[in-house]
Amino acid sequence: MKPTSRPAAASRLVYSTEGGRMCPQCRRPMADCRCAAQRAAAPAAAGPIRVSRESKGRGGKTVTLVRGLPLATAELEALGKQLRSRCGSGGTVKDGVVEVQGDHVDRVLAWLLAQGHAAKRAGG
Ligand SMILES: [Zn+2]
Repeated sequence: MKPTSRPAAASRLVYSTEGGRMCPQCRRPMADCRCAAQRAAAPAAAGPIRVSRESKGRGGKTVTLVRGLPLATAELEALGKQLRSRCGSGGTVKDGVVEVQGDHVDRVLAWLLAQGHAAKRAGG
């Protein structure tokens, strides 16, 4: 396999699979398609994403916590940054949990859902 992918090669590929079934999502022949496997694997690996509000043990300060995001640390950091700027608050990412200072459960939940995450509210 060559590292470059030219449009000509791509169209030849499409032509060569004429009559075969193509995945509309990744545009590979169904034999090479991993979309279904990814869809099946994601929820099992991820579990539900839970957004909760907590104030215990924080000196009375309320924080919004997002647990169960199926993301690597760098992606969590990026998401945490977006959430913090969205909420106009500070916060951290710690042990896979995104923390935003203040009570922003509704806003965080709405944003996660808009991003395509299957998030739900947890706790009070
Ligand atoms: Zn596919």
